[in-house]
Amino acid sequence: MMTEALQRRLAERRQQSRYRKRRVLETAQGPRVVVDGREFLLFCSNDYLGLANHPQLIAAMQNAAQQYGVGGGASHLVCGHSALHHQLEEGLAEITGRDRAILFSTGYMANLGTVTALVGKGDHILEDRLNHASLLDAGLLSGAKFQRFHHNDLNDLERRLQKLPDEGQRLIVVDAVFSMDGDMAPLPELAALAKKYDAYLMADDAHGFGVLGQSGAGSGEFFGLDQERLPILMGTLGKGIGSFGAFVAGSEVLIESLIQFARPYIYTTAMPPAVAAASLASLELLRSESWRRDHLRALIKRFKSGAAQIALPLMPSDTAIQPLLVGDESLAMAISAGLEAEGVLVSAIRPPTVAAGQSRLRITITAAHSTADIDALLAALHKVVPAELRVALPQL
Ligand SMILES: *Cc1c(COP(=O)(O)O)cnc(C)c1O
Repeated sequence: MMTEALQRRLAERRQQSRYRKRRVLETAQGPRVVVDGREFLLFCSNDYLGLANHPQLIAAMQNAAQQYGVGGGASHLVCGHSALHHQLEEGLAEITGRDRAILFSTGYMANLGTVTALVGKGDHILEDRLNHASLLDAGLLSGAKFQRFHHNDLNDLERRLQKLPDEGQRLIVVDAVFSMDGDMAPLPELAALAKKYDAYLMADDAHGFGVLGQSGAGSGEFFGLDQERLPILMGTLGKGIGSFGAFVAGSEVLIESLIQFARPYIYTTAMPPAVAAASLASLELLRSESWRRDHLRALIKRFKSGAAQIALPLMPSDTAIQPLLVGDESLAMAISAGLEAEGVLVSAIRPPTVAAGQSRLRITITAAHSTADIDALLAALHKVVPAELRVALPQL
């Protein structure tokens, strides 16, 4: 019975053009990858700085594995918290300008753990509609009264804050850079609203940390928001940092509370210390080699202006996430397949990851790409994106 029900759901997915398949990569992450023995130009990785295959990260991991072995062995609270984890937490606190930081094994767990540790029954959580699935799941799991406000709509959020009863804690949670759209949350304005309505503000900087801000400290640094204005800063280590894991940075009280109360922190094995060593090596590169961020910014600019020239329907984004809005699921799939035939890999993002009618190609650019790679991407898009999707050029 269960099998039949599952088969029905699978058939329905297929029929909606929403069925997902995994590609098997035969190489490391990088601008060029091999799939099924064929080389492709890759524009869908979150390895924004091109560090996932960097020799210094590899060496750091190898050396740490020699010294600390492979397995984390136990949870952080039992006996799995190694010197390398501790050093990484100190490094993350320093770069983000926070009192302290705590490591989580994944960003998904950091979000579940943080939200559920801070709010529960009788409290209130307000999230942007387009927040990452892990934040939406966290809000549901918390048991707090959960509201979703219109995307980046400060008026809608304020109306909702005004209507909250006096009782209970209030938590506002946003993606700092929206994962499927690439636009940014108005963090300074959100911080002002949080202060006005006595709410706590949390930002998930999975797509900003390492990439944005003068020193790569992310969206907090980009907007100049200190710990008081942005008290809960979550970041991940598997995207711009090129490694794996996540962290939350903030006050002493916040971090101690997460150590005590965040269940996805407490009841899981610590990440391998060698993974922490790779992240530490990456933090060192953020400090010493800022050219990656500059190069990435230049590539984004080149892509946007090239796309405008051929009237591609890009969404409004200045970050490394440059989605091309298609709408229909099957058309998004067809464009992705067309690009693949041209030797370019870009994933089609479809419901339920985005709303119905909002299917898109989520193009991501990394510092490992060259200007020639961007030009090759533009040429492939020019060939494959059908005329009916080209946006009318503004009248000059
Ligand atoms: C990727 C992502 C996460 C999850 O991080 P993982 O370390 O991959 O589990 C959380 N939030 C956002 C916005 C993300 O894009």
